[in-house]
Amino acid sequence: MKKLLILLLLSINTLSYTIAQETSSSRFSKIVIDPGHGGDKPGAKGKRSLEKHINLAVSLKLGELINNYLPDVKVIYTRTKDVDVDLINRSRLANREKADLFISIHCNAAPNRTACGTETFVMGLAKSQANIEAAKKENADILTEANYAENYDGFDPNSPESNIFFALYQNAYLEQSLSLADKIQKHYTANTKLYDRGVKQAPYLVLYKTSVPAVLTEIGFISNEREEKYLNTEKGQYEIAASIFQAIFNYKNRIEGKKIAPPSISELIPHRVIKEEEERIKREEEERKIREEQDRIALEKQKEIDAQQKEKEAREKEANEKDSIATEEETNDVVYRVQVFVDKAKLSKEDSRLKDLEEVWMYKDNKMWKYTAGNFNNFNQANEYRRTLKDKGYKDAFVVIFHKNKRISLERAKELEKENNK
Ligand SMILES: [Zn+2]
Repeated sequence: MKKLLILLLLSINTLSYTIAQETSSSRFSKIVIDPGHGGDKPGAKGKRSLEKHINLAVSLKLGELINNYLPDVKVIYTRTKDVDVDLINRSRLANREKADLFISIHCNAAPNRTACGTETFVMGLAKSQANIEAAKKENADILTEANYAENYDGFDPNSPESNIFFALYQNAYLEQSLSLADKIQKHYTANTKLYDRGVKQAPYLVLYKTSVPAVLTEIGFISNEREEKYLNTEKGQYEIAASIFQAIFNYKNRIEGKKIAPPSISELIPHRVIKEEEERIKREEEERKIREEQDRIALEKQKEIDAQQKEKEAREKEANEKDSIATEEETNDVVYRVQVFVDKAKLSKEDSRLKDLEEVWMYKDNKMWKYTAGNFNNFNQANEYRRTLKDKGYKDAFVVIFHKNKRISLERAKELEKENNK
């Protein structure tokens, strides 16, 4: 490891020298745009889209803006279709072309669905576990590449030692890369509503093997519903691409010692896209209104059905009550009956359990219906009837006494009889 480190530091010195010579020419003439993932490596997954498609769409828009507004800059893509390209070959393309800049475009994702915003990475030592995790996710694509251990010098994304070792590699380009990353974040904030998570360092393999100024930008969270929706609109993609474009425009100016303001965001986004976006919003608003109206009508209909149902139930209840056993008119007399059984249900007079009984009468007590038979004006007659019922099988029958349809005790009955006889 130590020997390697010394070799590496030596090579950084050589590289720095080369850059110094190159930048003295003060020309920015070539950019490699790298849409992350592709083919059978979809990257992060949203609810309704895949990262690889958004990365490509934004990359192509960025290239289009550079072609239109910076015609002296040659645009090279690592892919222009939905195909898989090994990370090592993406870096090699930038190195072979001696590009002035390499930019890798990605979407972020997190288990926490509220995580949001943009961030731009340069190769370096991750300062937080979160940044290491972010790099690990993007680096995982190499695991299916042939000879990946050899190509990435035994890089192990899970080893802290690897992180430190590989972070040293691109320090020679750190200043330029940081300068661009900073500009990209500033323009995102100026042109979009996306939260600025800032410029960060992490050991991204696609940056590690790239021997030119290089950044990896995460343009929003595909795992966040609102941002996924935004990243899938033409307008959102143009706003992101235009932000990166303005940053590159200023970066190029700085290298070339010029002071020209980049085209404004409204110049950069095609009128067609703005118009389509306005129409989309209008259409969605109309659809929302129609849905609300449909919901309102459905609710009204349901209310009507409920009211009819209630009315029907009330009518049925009334009919049932007429049909069931009549309650007695209130008199001042004390009435003796025989209670035969209790039931939760209110039985109709046709019920088989009531057919042997005379003068059936029921009352509700403690949520139960209590059924009585007979109607006498003294205890003895009622008790006689109780014996008859017992013989018929009503083993638990007993005498109950009522006054004004309320149960009373035998003592109270005697008092009342005395009063009534006065
Ligand atoms: Zn990615």
